[in-house]
Amino acid sequence: MGYNCVVLIKQVPDTKRITGKAMNDDGTVNRRALPAIFNPEDLNALELALQIKEQYGGTVTVITMGLPAAAAVLRESLYRGADRVILITDPKCAASDTLATSYILSCAVNKLQYDIVICGRQAIDGDTAQVGPQLAEKLGVTQITYLEMLLELENEHITAQRNIGNGQQKVRGKLPVLLTVTGEANEPRVAAAKNMMKYKNARTVAEIAQQIKTENPNADEDTLAELVERKAGLLKDKGLLIEQWDLDYLEADLGWCGRSGSPTKVHRIQSVVLAAKESKEIEPTEQGISDMIGELIEDKTIA
Ligand code: FAD
Repeated sequence: MGYNCVVLIKQVPDTKRITGKAMNDDGTVNRRALPAIFNPEDLNALELALQIKEQYGGTVTVITMGLPAAAAVLRESLYRGADRVILITDPKCAASDTLATSYILSCAVNKLQYDIVICGRQAIDGDTAQVGPQLAEKLGVTQITYLEMLLELENEHITAQRNIGNGQQKVRGKLPVLLTVTGEANEPRVAAAKNMMKYKNARTVAEIAQQIKTENPNADEDTLAELVERKAGLLKDKGLLIEQWDLDYLEADLGWCGRSGSPTKVHRIQSVVLAAKESKEIEPTEQGISDMIGELIEDKTIA
């Protein structure tokens, strides 16, 4: 018994520390120039999966699609308690919009046995909140978006509470299901020191290759390949080799991936600076603050 949960996580640029060099000329994000973090709501998605495993049994598998550096968020997932982590990385994924991203992720999820797929509601860089619903559509499963509370799981059904902006909605659906989770759904646990000690040396083949190349700058291709294979084998024996899948392994239709699979085109990039058109001084008193709140409610700035 138990539920097999697959969690989709994204490594994102820390949008609180964006510099002027954040965008490339073609409108894509210059990820190399920005500090990278675990997308905040994906931590809530992972936490929900871990809680389901603790309460009902089952497994937690985490997938990310990104550059080889995205392995960092997979290690963080292992530190927090994930059972299995997978990196999808392939130069042919570059320039994928949400449609191509969700197609590639659907190919990966379809390689696994799953009952519940969990995404964050939204990524803080792309900000579209499209990937979860598109993925559910491609997998052909029930979707419950904006989940803020899991109420019940019984056999093949799930009951959950959704946040619909100005209220809550209670819904019941049949498994398999895809959930997108809000930041209010739970309090993500911190990494466990025991797991950090266990997995701090977990690496993908891409990371191993990078390291071996740096350590052996004059080695030829064959020697490098041999060294990578040997190191990967050693890590695998210790349960520290992070799985790495490419589009060939996923048997993905390349016409649906990368730029050719992405109908979205960036028309123009505009830097928006919000400037106050008018300012108003208020008395720093209870009455002054109360009057200001009254005005904001009246002109519907706040509810
Ligand atoms: P949302 O839909 O807001 O994410 C919702 C949830 O989906 C996340 O919380 C997470 O659970 C899951 N999720 C989203 N993305 C991933 C992922 N990669 N892996 C696992 N789970 C995920 N991005 C690049 O990195 N390189 C590019 O070259 C590139 N080119 C682009 C070109 C165009 C024309 C466009 C429009 C976008 C491009 N992007 C590129 C951005 C990329 O399409 C989005 O980052 C991606 O599709 C996810 O969309 P989002 O950030 O809006 O995620």
